[in-house]
Amino acid sequence: MGLIVQKFGGTSVGSAEKILHVANRVIEEKKKGNDVVVVVSAMGKSTDLLVNLARDITKSPSQREMDMLLSTGEQVTISLLTMALTEKGYDAISYTGWQAGIQTERVHGNARITDIKTDKIDQQLKEGKIIVVAGFQGMSSDSEITTLGRGGSDTTAVALAAALNAEKCDIYTDVPGVFTTDPRVVKSARKLDAISYDEMLELANLGAGVLHPRAVEFAKNYEIPLEVRSSMESVPGTRIEEAASMEENLIVRGIAFEDQITRVTITGLTTGLTTLSTIFTTLAKRSINVDIIIQSATSENHTSISFSVKTDDLEKTVEVLEDYKDALKFKKIETENKLAKVSIVGSGMVSNPGVAAEMFAVLARKNIQVKMVSTSEIKVSTVIDQEDMVKAVEALHDAFDLAKQSSAVL
Ligand code: ADP
Ligand code: ASP
Ligand code: MG
Repeated sequence: MGLIVQKFGGTSVGSAEKILHVANRVIEEKKKGNDVVVVVSAMGKSTDLLVNLARDITKSPSQREMDMLLSTGEQVTISLLTMALTEKGYDAISYTGWQAGIQTERVHGNARITDIKTDKIDQQLKEGKIIVVAGFQGMSSDSEITTLGRGGSDTTAVALAAALNAEKCDIYTDVPGVFTTDPRVVKSARKLDAISYDEMLELANLGAGVLHPRAVEFAKNYEIPLEVRSSMESVPGTRIEEAASMEENLIVRGIAFEDQITRVTITGLTTGLTTLSTIFTTLAKRSINVDIIIQSATSENHTSISFSVKTDDLEKTVEVLEDYKDALKFKKIETENKLAKVSIVGSGMVSNPGVAAEMFAVLARKNIQVKMVSTSEIKVSTVIDQEDMVKAVEALHDAFDLAKQSSAVL
């Protein structure tokens, strides 16, 4: 008998009927003799609805009030699931993030968990109760409600699993596991039996929304066995683990993609030792996440720099750069919208030169122009036109044989 943390995402708790079904999945685990802590998201698309409600009121809501608003979504689900468990004869109690002792940085909208005080949960577990915790939220040291960033309930679950020394953390969702790419977009995508923490972290960071990147980070750092599984059917999902043995011969494990990317180019920039640091420190201070950066060859003390940002951050980016125009001494800012990033990920790449070349060749055969590139030991990312995104993912999925079960996978 051990402690299991289960997490159910928005679509899995999207109606009263689904919540009653989730209660059964929780009870199954409890009946095995385990202690169970359940983390839930807001019902269905209710977080999006709350975001849209705020937008109907103001173009620039305060981050504090957004957290106050968005944290209400999860509170609805915890109470309903607890009622469902009680109705079915099980002793359960719901906790909001702060009641569960989840402490975060003093940041709104994207706070990191800094500590979890588990006394209250420990006590209730001892009394045999099932604990139902609101995902995605915590409290800062100055008693403010904070949220962990979209998709952050995964992180609540894994962080609780780490703090409570859980045996494992199961992430139940609307697909039966982690696939070679998003199965809703590429029909031939194949479910993986297992994937390494590092590969999953890259995929999550590069846009595979199935897991929140920080959840994978926590799982890796605290060696929490993590499994992504279907909330509908009782079948094995995808294990995320260290598992070095499964990495032989496998070059590309998965493909991630993300649209709504914009390329920003600053031209006629006077070169100086501190130019780059001034630009990127300034942007970082305004919480603008810059992704791929390319500096072109310098001529006569002038250079140009291109970088990619999320399209949502574009307005703020240009505003910040214009504010610094005198200090930075540049000629012009050019922007290109409607771009997408497509990335191939696999730990086998480290020892296989030519993977990037193969990726470019596949894209060229499909007449897809690559506008920016970035590589690491286990990934290659390309920025292309948004309208080519799905075509590119399908072509790469085919070219790297991802639909086929590889003998190297386990
Ligand atoms: P939840 O509400 O349960 O947190 P999410 O919508 O956040 O669910 O994540 C599940 C979705 O992730 C799937 O419906 C799928 O469209 C998407 N997804 C993206 N990439 C992948 C992938 N590689 N494998 C599985 N699902 C993926
Ligand atoms: N409800 C939040 C969101 O929609 C958190 C989550 O579902 O993980 O982003
Ligand atoms: Mg999610």
